[in-house]
Amino acid sequence: MSTRRNSIGWRLYSASRVFALSTLISATGIGVELVVFTVASSIILLTDLFHWAVDTVLEVVFLLTLMFTSRTRKRFPWSTVIIESSLTTFSCLIILGVYFYMFVDYLFNAYESVNISTQSYTPLVATITGGFLTLLTYIILKKSYKQYKVELLRVDSIHALVDVIAAVVASLGVILTVYTKNMAVEIFFTFILMLFVFHSLVEVFRNNIKAIMGGELNAELSLELKKKLEENINKNINIANIEARKLGSFYVVNIELEVDPDTTILEIHRLRRKVIRAITEKCDLVYHVDIRFNPKHAWRKRYLRKQY
Ligand SMILES: [Zn+2]
Repeated sequence: MSTRRNSIGWRLYSASRVFALSTLISATGIGVELVVFTVASSIILLTDLFHWAVDTVLEVVFLLTLMFTSRTRKRFPWSTVIIESSLTTFSCLIILGVYFYMFVDYLFNAYESVNISTQSYTPLVATITGGFLTLLTYIILKKSYKQYKVELLRVDSIHALVDVIAAVVASLGVILTVYTKNMAVEIFFTFILMLFVFHSLVEVFRNNIKAIMGGELNAELSLELKKKLEENINKNINIANIEARKLGSFYVVNIELEVDPDTTILEIHRLRRKVIRAITEKCDLVYHVDIRFNPKHAWRKRYLRKQY
């Protein structure tokens, strides 16, 4: 790993330290909510707790991704990406299952006793503390993105901002439920909070599906890289195809070049190095460059004519 300041390795390493901090804040949030929940159980608080659990999984995944990529920048660890995606999906499904089990339990209890579950203002201690922790996370992530320019920091800072609103909604829900003693109010706020959890879950699954499908094509960057290559390599070499695919915070670039059939292995080797240098110069979030060399089309036609 290069430790030069502002090098991509250094920036990823710094970003991973920021995620270590935000994971710690998330864990603190879960701790506070759990303690308050055991004292004053409430369906609104349970839903908020569920949200914290999913978001903590998300933070841990971001942290592990950055830790891994800042250390091994040579080849893209496809198997790691897939294992990691399956693990996150699995953990989120378990959290989802536990939540729905408890939610259905709540509904049955509510049906039998016709009573709201939020009986006191005590859950406010958890939701307001949670709100401040989320706001703190937002400020840290936003500042770090400005400094390190790692896309994951920006994505997570937007999420944190959305979650500050979720904390306000949860607090408002507790206040209005206790004040009105109306079950409809409690259920209404619970459902709004669930939307915030779905927002987090969609983020987890979207990321995973993209990773398994091989990333999302970025046409704009592909075109920019093509221009850069055209400026840098010999005019006799055709760029048959160039695709930059986004994978989490990074890009994987696939290039297909058509070269003269008489090109030597040594020349191809040099060309490959030159192409990789040009690509990583243009965009330092490129993680891996894959290049295929084919003989030029004109030659292929001639070759085929000779054969048949
Ligand atoms: Zn969230």
